[in-house]
Amino acid sequence: MARRCRLIPVVEMPVALGSRESATLHSCASVTAGCTSIPPEVARVAVKPSPEPDSVSLPYWQAARAGQLVVQRCGHCGCSQFPPDLLCRRCQSDNVDFEAVSGAGHVFSFGIYTRTFDPAFPAPYVLALVELADRPGVRLMTNIVATPAELVRVGLSVEVCFEDRGEWALPQFRAVESAGGDPR
Ligand SMILES: [Zn+2]
Repeated sequence: MARRCRLIPVVEMPVALGSRESATLHSCASVTAGCTSIPPEVARVAVKPSPEPDSVSLPYWQAARAGQLVVQRCGHCGCSQFPPDLLCRRCQSDNVDFEAVSGAGHVFSFGIYTRTFDPAFPAPYVLALVELADRPGVRLMTNIVATPAELVRVGLSVEVCFEDRGEWALPQFRAVESAGGDPR
């Protein structure tokens, strides 16, 4: 019986799948062990990966699907954190719960990819660390979208937006200011 594998984006393609333009890769080690659950022609389709919620992150993804950005806050020490975790990473309390944030923030750091590693993510695209305006110190790894890459800079004011990914939605950020006009 064929094993089931999930797909993940890759930056380097294995020899087993041939083309460097292939978009996805088996996340298990069974490519060379006879895994047949995903034919090579399907594996080469450019599809962005979808979130895979677990018991800890499920509320985060449910909120994102509803168009709301949430982060965890510790009921013991008041610390906010991201990504979601079972415990507060500051005091180890399990009294953590999700609460909505405004979705406003600024670019803390970023990189511009000028080479297309995956057909689902054509270059140029921007990978960024965004710090939330109402939760100083809480930073999300994300993409800056709907914004010319050359306008992205450290300190750029951004706001959350949501990109549909299958049955879920992925929080992304876009500029709220630019020298070249409204990026929205
Ligand atoms: Zn705490």
